[in-house]
Amino acid sequence: MEKMQQVVGRARAAFNSGRCRSLEFRLQQLKALERMVQEKEKEILAAIKADLHKSGPNAYGHEILGVLGELALTMDKLPSWAAPRPVKKNLLTMRDEAYIYPEPLGVVLIIGAWNYPFVLVMQPLIGAIAAGNAAVVKPSEISENTARLVADLLPQYLDRELYPVVTGGVPETTELLTQRFDHILYTGNSAVGKIVMAAAAKHLTPVTLELGGKSPCYIDKDCDLAVACRSGCGKSLVGGFWLYCALWQEFYGEDVKSSPDYERIINKRHFKRIMGLLEGQNIAYGGQTDEASCFIAPTILTDVSPESKVMEEEIFGPVLPILPVKNVDKAIEFINRREKPLALYVFSNNKKLIRRVISETSSGGMTANDVFMHALVPDLPFGGVGNSGMGAYHGKHSFETFSHRRACLIKDLKMEVVNKLRYPPGSQKKVDWAKLFLLMQFNKGRVGLVMLAVLGIVAAVVAKMVCSGRSG
Ligand code: NAD
Repeated sequence: MEKMQQVVGRARAAFNSGRCRSLEFRLQQLKALERMVQEKEKEILAAIKADLHKSGPNAYGHEILGVLGELALTMDKLPSWAAPRPVKKNLLTMRDEAYIYPEPLGVVLIIGAWNYPFVLVMQPLIGAIAAGNAAVVKPSEISENTARLVADLLPQYLDRELYPVVTGGVPETTELLTQRFDHILYTGNSAVGKIVMAAAAKHLTPVTLELGGKSPCYIDKDCDLAVACRSGCGKSLVGGFWLYCALWQEFYGEDVKSSPDYERIINKRHFKRIMGLLEGQNIAYGGQTDEASCFIAPTILTDVSPESKVMEEEIFGPVLPILPVKNVDKAIEFINRREKPLALYVFSNNKKLIRRVISETSSGGMTANDVFMHALVPDLPFGGVGNSGMGAYHGKHSFETFSHRRACLIKDLKMEVVNKLRYPPGSQKKVDWAKLFLLMQFNKGRVGLVMLAVLGIVAAVVAKMVCSGRSG
């Protein structure tokens, strides 16, 4: 307990020193992070390979590019994101300053999951630094090599007190969660999401929960089946079975096991869990496994019951259950009967059908005619809804997640005469004028501004008359 208290205490003291507030400091830390990723690329890729058997190009695309892209975008845009944003004014506030000032939340906690072990802690960290916070980083213990490397590298490049790394599993995270944070971003499963949220509630700490669940993929009969199969949608509902099998061979060769591009299941526990999901299922393709190396070949299941475990639980493995549905109405019905997913995929040549699926279902995000790619568009928020999570991040959305949008109003004392409309004694006349002033809106065009100025003078005169008339 002592140790976590000290780590968080040091981060808070460092935050309170005010040094992470300046834009220069934030940019300098982000630059250092970029240098770290560039200089230690080989070590990062080796750790990811040791954890997930993810090969160089694959891991580079998934984890390094994602982080470098986010860093480049954030460093470029940060001055404009962090700048005060003036808001629309009305007649009563036209001489005042009214703006939104994004301010850091304080000390935030970032908890990562194992399946993208590097990017899932680094991308939130970029947002937390950009917004001016201190951040405690807790990578997943399941991807232990990456966790160790993150713990080793971050202090070499970043301010050690502001951005400490805590490693460990459930006991350490449980202890960490007793501490007070100003925001927690957690990536992982929904059951632990509830534990995180309950711990956060004790301190009224807001949370962003990046959870999972089953993400359905509807493949319409009118679609480009080759594209649908190539995108590698690993989910459910009607598929192009034989084409899928052929493409797997195109991607990984005749012997999938020896392909450098083919990953392994993270550990024995997950291997056994997936084997359990396959029990009693009709394996139409694949099904070869090797427990010693946690290998499971690409596997297709047909005649799957919607109530079976493989259709209820997240698979997290190369297993594709196919469920035929009669038409899009049935697909929508099926999707809406279940928890809201993190992502939803539709393959169809018919844009109207795609829009209909969007408007009649709900999910954290969606991509049509591809999978997952909405998560790589930096301007789109990435997050779940309902059982798949709350809040979102990526790009500007990360900055906003880790900022408080502070409402600031600096009054101009010269308009005190107008303020008198608010002061007692009240009268119907005052209410009528206040209504007029408050409800009238002008655009920023030249005519609007002139009108505003004229009405401002009128307001001042009227206010004076109304007030002095009342007192006289
Ligand atoms: P995991 O086992 O790596 O756990 C995630 C984190 O939670 C770890 O840091 C771990 O230490 C911590 N943790 C585990 N049990 C805990 C407990 N009892 N109390 C406190 N902390 C605890 O990962 P996982 O949960 O197996 O992750 C897989 C899930 O994450 C899947 O559901 C997947 O869909 C989801 N996921 C979501 C996203 C997303 O961006 N929304 C990304 C990746 C994974």
